[in-house]
Amino acid sequence: MTSLPFDDRDGDIWLDGVFVPWREARLHVLSHGLHYGGGVFEGERVYDGRVFELTAHSRRLHSSARELGFRIPFDVAELDGATRELVSRLRIRDGYVRPVAWRGSEQLGVSGAGTSVHVAIAAWEWPHVFSAAARNQGITLATSRWRRPSPDTAPVHAKASSLYNICTLARDAAAADGYDDALLLDFRGHLAEATGANLFLVIDGALHTPLADVFLSGITRQTVIALAAELGIAVHERHIDPAELAHADEVFLTGTAYEVQPVRAVDGKPYEVGAVTQSLAEAYTRLVHTPAAYGAKSPTSAAVDESNTS
Ligand code: PMP
Repeated sequence: MTSLPFDDRDGDIWLDGVFVPWREARLHVLSHGLHYGGGVFEGERVYDGRVFELTAHSRRLHSSARELGFRIPFDVAELDGATRELVSRLRIRDGYVRPVAWRGSEQLGVSGAGTSVHVAIAAWEWPHVFSAAARNQGITLATSRWRRPSPDTAPVHAKASSLYNICTLARDAAAADGYDDALLLDFRGHLAEATGANLFLVIDGALHTPLADVFLSGITRQTVIALAAELGIAVHERHIDPAELAHADEVFLTGTAYEVQPVRAVDGKPYEVGAVTQSLAEAYTRLVHTPAAYGAKSPTSAAVDESNTS
């Protein structure tokens, strides 16, 4: 784990169709995306040199941009190809990929009309968000005063940079109070999600997860729902009142970076890291390390397959 600043590292970044030296991947201060929040991004995870659910992420980058009214000037196959080549060049085995797209500098009026769209993809080694102890014993959450907005207020299904203001405020407030992450309600007061992950409750052996009608239905969330079906665990997607946390036996979060992350307390109420969470976490880990779970092979995968020891 490195603490180098993100603009001062070795390697290459893919920027608008070409690989450029890491430190030269810059944008102008008068970029529309910077001033008015016209940016979308993805977070992808590399396991054994391959990007899990790469095409789903590239597609979501496109749909997020569409929601914000702009078009990514590279198609999904081009984004997939650029990502694989980047991961291969940087020889990343366990890492993270950050594609980002933003409106450029042709004009600075509030209207986005006439702005070009830029795209960058960066990748780095980054095996885990939380410590081994936190991954095993669970993290703590505090309910935030910040809420997920209504679809009449914000492009809630886009992975839009502008929406992450809410997450940053919530996360920093939770950290200041000594919690690992924040739990956000939606504008109606239903349980929603954490600052970078979806929420699951285990009640009487079944999974209950907030209906993703006003926030991202994460790719990991969808994967875990499919895994639960395979394991014979019932899943209920519905509006959930925060009072129901009192009846939950287990709580966990899902996300590309969080993976299946147990929660050991919400607002001080403790939860066990129970059998359902553990079996889904194990199934998820197995899946992401199964070559057959990946569609098209990455340039590195042949070499990785041969040298695979785990
Ligand atoms: N909600 C938010 C706010 C997120 O940032 C993320 C991470 N992308 C998720 C949910 C989970 O999405 P995914 O499983 O696709 O990573």
